[in-house]
Amino acid sequence: MRLRAYAKINLGLDILGKRPDGYHEVKMIMQTIQMYDLLEIKKKKIPGIGLISNVPYVPADERNLAYKAAKLLMDEFKVQEGLSIKLEKFIPVAAGMAGGSSDAAAVMVGVNRLFQLGLTDQELMERSVQIGADVPYCILRGTALAEGIGERLTPLPALPKCCVLIGKPSVSVSTKTAYESLDLAAVPVHPDIDGMIRDIQAGDLDGVVSRMGNVFEPGIQKRHPVIGDISRLMEEHGAMKAMMSGSGPTVFGIFKDGDQMERAAAALRDSHLAKVVFATEIYNRNGGNTNDK
Ligand code: ATP
Repeated sequence: MRLRAYAKINLGLDILGKRPDGYHEVKMIMQTIQMYDLLEIKKKKIPGIGLISNVPYVPADERNLAYKAAKLLMDEFKVQEGLSIKLEKFIPVAAGMAGGSSDAAAVMVGVNRLFQLGLTDQELMERSVQIGADVPYCILRGTALAEGIGERLTPLPALPKCCVLIGKPSVSVSTKTAYESLDLAAVPVHPDIDGMIRDIQAGDLDGVVSRMGNVFEPGIQKRHPVIGDISRLMEEHGAMKAMMSGSGPTVFGIFKDGDQMERAAAALRDSHLAKVVFATEIYNRNGGNTNDK
């Protein structure tokens, strides 16, 4: 069974506070984009899970989120057969694009079908939060509001069709460090997530883009000025707006026009500011995309 694991960007990312259990209370507008890892899962006679991937810097054992996701379901349902997972990564790693979470989500959907476990998407989402806070969203996909630790989801209408340019600089930012170094009291402005929801419901792309904001961005950008350089380059080349996704360091720019985005992509490649440059568009939940390739 071949599966696609799609990346996400955050159109809005706000953090409301820290909970007594140490987790942060978030309020985010999530958007799936047409950038994905490919997974192939197969039953095997010998019990156990085997995983191979095309990137040496991602663990290929029980630390891999795709492995964890398969194990979670196979243990619960006492699956006697084994599973082999082939993971081909295209989503930049530790980049704020939920690559690992999305691999986990795709494997849960795939294992449920392959072994005919009979779980609904809702039941998969409930279990998937044990793997990570973003995994339920990666099962849902599309445009959505994420609250709580990211697991409380409200699907939103699809965003008007638009193009997305991805620029990932060579620096790495771990999500853990991003949270630890966040000084909420010093955050100058919080994005207006409720206003963005109204704009999404009204199909007003200009409105949505004007409210884009990420509370992680000022702190991470201070450490890694290249993030600001990439954003500026995208905006100088016609992006409606460019911003960091998640805890970074990936920058995305929203474009109305595909040709304009391609010109900006060429300029970004020439600049050598970004290690990964990828021109794509948003993914629409109702757009006929399916989990299977
Ligand atoms: P998020 O946006 O959810 O914070 P991210 O883009 O910052 O995610 P990931 O690409 O998911 O981060 O990877 C974070 C870490 O998880 C990496 O350091 C990597 O070693 C580990 N990891 C485990 N499984 C995977 C996987 N399937 N793909 C990528 N990374 C994985």
